[in-house]
Amino acid sequence: MKGIRHAVILGSGFETALQPLETIEVETPFNSKKVVVSRVVIGGVETLAVLRHGVKHENPPHMVEYRANIWSLKELGVNRLLAVNTVGTINPIMRPGDLTVPHNMIDFTKRRRYTFYDAQPVVHIDFTKPYCEELRSLLIKSACKLGETVWDKSTYICTEGPRFETAAEIRMFRLLGADVVGMTGCPEAALARELGLCYASLCIVSNMAAGMQSRVTSREVSEIVFRKREAVIKVLGETIKDIPADRNCSCSIQTDSEFKL
Ligand SMILES: [Zn+2]
Repeated sequence: MKGIRHAVILGSGFETALQPLETIEVETPFNSKKVVVSRVVIGGVETLAVLRHGVKHENPPHMVEYRANIWSLKELGVNRLLAVNTVGTINPIMRPGDLTVPHNMIDFTKRRRYTFYDAQPVVHIDFTKPYCEELRSLLIKSACKLGETVWDKSTYICTEGPRFETAAEIRMFRLLGADVVGMTGCPEAALARELGLCYASLCIVSNMAAGMQSRVTSREVSEIVFRKREAVIKVLGETIKDIPADRNCSCSIQTDSEFKL
């Protein structure tokens, strides 16, 4: 698997979407977690793939070992990550079935492991722009080319889950400037940045957020993901084909990491 420099991280509903050419287990230092990484072909190009929740969707969003997923791909030499996330929309301009490529995020998670730097050295990454602008523009271009309705900017707010939000929470999130809400974007994006990896997210809008429709159910979310799955894989394929060998972004730049007293 060495030599493949890009990977996809797929969410719920993608467990049977791709046929692996090869599958390995990568041992990680995070609670002895082993991550199953597959070599797959997307858009005619070999790429690596990780199922965020595990191969049998065994980990709910708040129990995913995000550090192990990101670390295992870095270990294999990956430097570009394309994530697929499912979101409810808070912004009424977006509709179920649309795609969006968020440009910023707000973290409302509560009890996850957020960093690779729990000890020395003390590291503070720049996270002004949490997503790779180069990968974002490639995702948007590919989605447009394939005729998808795609929003080129949105602020993603991440909740702890696994319950859906209350109507009052969604009203608050709207006031805070969020457009879409999900449970898996954080800390995944920050962990990628900590390791200097490019990271962008292609989000499937599965439902209107709580209070904007009568109730929110897992079933409707699954149905939309199942309906959009093939289109999302095609967008990923077009994007991967266009990823240049050299990175034209600042994702790999380490910040002034240590306090010197
Ligand atoms: Zn980048």
